[in-house]
Amino acid sequence: MTATGGLVDRFGRTATDLRVSLTDKCNLRCTYCMPAEGLDWLPSDKLLSNDEIVRLVQVAVTRLGVHEVRFTGGEPLVRRGVLDIVERCAALEPRPQLSITTNALGLARMAAPLADAGLDRVNVSLDTVRQDTFLKLTLRDRLHDVIAGLAAADAAGLRPVKVNAVLMRGVNDDQAPELLRWCLERGYELRFIEQMPLDAQHGWRRDEMVTAAEILDMLSREFDLTDAEEPRGSAPAELFSVNGGPATVGVIASVTRPFCGDCDRVRLTADGQVRNCLFATDESDLRLALRAGATDEEIADRWRAAVAPKLPGHGIDDVTFLQPSRPMSAIGG
Ligand code: SAM
Ligand code: SF4
Repeated sequence: MTATGGLVDRFGRTATDLRVSLTDKCNLRCTYCMPAEGLDWLPSDKLLSNDEIVRLVQVAVTRLGVHEVRFTGGEPLVRRGVLDIVERCAALEPRPQLSITTNALGLARMAAPLADAGLDRVNVSLDTVRQDTFLKLTLRDRLHDVIAGLAAADAAGLRPVKVNAVLMRGVNDDQAPELLRWCLERGYELRFIEQMPLDAQHGWRRDEMVTAAEILDMLSREFDLTDAEEPRGSAPAELFSVNGGPATVGVIASVTRPFCGDCDRVRLTADGQVRNCLFATDESDLRLALRAGATDEEIADRWRAAVAPKLPGHGIDDVTFLQPSRPMSAIGG
C-alpha cells in the first residue's frame, strides 16, 4: 500500500522543517568546518538544478507537510540562482516560511533582493567581532563584510536577525560576553552552538569542546540570565532573557543536552540526497529518481521511506559513534 501523509519516523517524530543545501562550496574556511585548502567540490552534473530544487521543495510542501524551508550549504549566497529559488519557493501554496543560514559575505548587496524575492529571515554565522580572531577562525579577512551584511539584513526587514556562534577553545572562547554585548546593542538575537564532530578534518575532540554549561557560566558573570518563557519545543536553543528581557540569548547544546527526541528536521543535500539526520550514515537518492522521471507521489513515497528509519539520537557519546563521511558543509548545516 502506498504510504500517505507526512514525514513521520518510527518514534512518531514528524519532520516539518526542511534544510536545503544549495551548494557545498564556501568562501570562508572556518577551522571547525573546512580545511584551508577547501574540499573536493561536488561535480556540477550531480548538483540539483534550480528547477529540481524547486520541484523537490514543492513536493515537500504540498505532499509532505513541510512548512519551514531553510537554505544553507556550504555558503548558499555563492550559488547563482539563489534569488530565483527563493522567489519560486515563496510562490508555493501553502507558502512555507523561508530563511537562509549564511556567513553574510555578499549579504550587504543581496539582503534587499532576497527580501523582495520572499525571504523571511536570516541566520548569520559570526563567531567573533575581533578582526584578528575572525581571520584566525575563518582564514579570510572579511569581518567588515559580515557586519555590513547583518546591517543590510536588518534594514531589509529580514528580522529577527539571528546570529549563530561557535566557540573554539583557545581561539574565541573568552569572547562570549563581548559578542553578546555587540549583538544586544544592534538588536540581533545571538545563539551559541556547541561544536559538533562534523568537520572534514575530523579534528573535533569531546574534551576540547566548549560546553553549553561553560558558556552560560561565562555569560552569567556579566549578564543576569533567567529562563525565557518561550517553550523549547522542537526549537533546539535553550533561551534565556538577558537582564530582565526582552532581549534573549540562546544556547544550543547539541552535544551535551541533545534535542533529538523533539527533532523536526530533514535535510536535502545539494546533490539531491535526503538525510534524516545530520549524523545519519545513510542517504536516499532523490536526484536519480527525479531524473528517471518519477512522479511527485513517487518522490514523496521515497522521501517518507527515507525518514521512517531515523535513529532516536545522534549517539555522539556512544563508544560506537561514527562521524558521518560527509562534513557539515556538504550536508547542509
Ligand atoms: N555557510 C553558512 C554559514 O556558515 O552560516 C551555512 C552553512 S554552515 C555549515 C551552517 C552552520 O553550521 C554555521 O552556523 C556554522 O557555524 C555551523 N557549523 C559548521 N561546522 C560546525 C561544527 N563542527 N559544529 C557546530 N556548528 C558548525
Ligand atoms: Fe563556510 Fe559556513 Fe563552513 Fe564557515 S561554517 S566554512 S562559512 S560552510
